[in-house]
Amino acid sequence: MALFEESETDVELDLPVEPDELLFPDVYVGLEIGLLAPGDGIVTDRHHASSERYEADDPQNQIRGQISPFTLSGWLRHGCEQVVQVAGGSACHPGPQNADFMRSDVYERDLESGYHEKGSCTDETDAGCVVYDLFGGFQDRPGKLLRRPIRFSPIRSQVDVLNGEAEAHYRQISNQVRSRNAEDGGQPLRHADRDVVGNLSGTWKLTLRESKPEFVGLLLEAVAFLDAHASEFEFQLGGARNFGGGMADAWVINPLYSEREVRRVFNQAQGATQAMAEKDDVWTKECRDEFVRALQGRVAAHDGDVPMPGGDG
Ligand SMILES: [Zn+2]
Repeated sequence: MALFEESETDVELDLPVEPDELLFPDVYVGLEIGLLAPGDGIVTDRHHASSERYEADDPQNQIRGQISPFTLSGWLRHGCEQVVQVAGGSACHPGPQNADFMRSDVYERDLESGYHEKGSCTDETDAGCVVYDLFGGFQDRPGKLLRRPIRFSPIRSQVDVLNGEAEAHYRQISNQVRSRNAEDGGQPLRHADRDVVGNLSGTWKLTLRESKPEFVGLLLEAVAFLDAHASEFEFQLGGARNFGGGMADAWVINPLYSEREVRRVFNQAQGATQAMAEKDDVWTKECRDEFVRALQGRVAAHDGDVPMPGGDG
């Protein structure tokens, strides 16, 4: 099927280019993250699923790793829920109704503040809320968005951003925990090592299995929301958030770019070309709002006539 012919809304896309000349059905999320802490879905060659298998043999400057698609998906989904809720709609609760929540009142409270019971929005004829439709619900409804892990490496020549990869640098940081007691003269009490991944720069590659325009609108708005709220604990990625871990600068890479231009975004030796600047202008002025309008139509159709705030990215 041609791109964007299917939609749950009546909103017509009016684009200055043919949709299949764009990067769709792939959507590249650009990411710049200063500090990531292994744990919570972030693993390196030294951190395997089994904690007994910590291997400290490889030189630090060759350590690779990956960010799990589950961690990334939870982060993105949270942004999507916020966008739908800010628009006045409600989103599927991420947890099943019978989940054993650690605080029993949490689920009830969530249902009163912008969430509905997972899957309660859908039946044989209704695709459900846009979050359910995109992310899927139960086993027989797998969702429409393919989410991959991000693989990272410190060696730039081995990083392919068209494949959803990133450059990032593993480091082991040592610090001395010193005595606070004046009599001890600040002598170290113990030595602590902390593993970190620094200066991640690259892409997360998403692929739409079904290309509804409202899905693109939701991804655009959610990524802009996450970028704007990166300093808030609940919208950070992975562990060590108290130490500033997982604060992500995130943006959807202009879908008008060619693959060569996507590579160029991450090539520090080359700046953006005039053609890229022109495409940025066309995207911002003539394309982005078309997709956001489709999202607006979908949320309004499902949750009554609610206005959608303009995007900030
Ligand atoms: Zn729902």
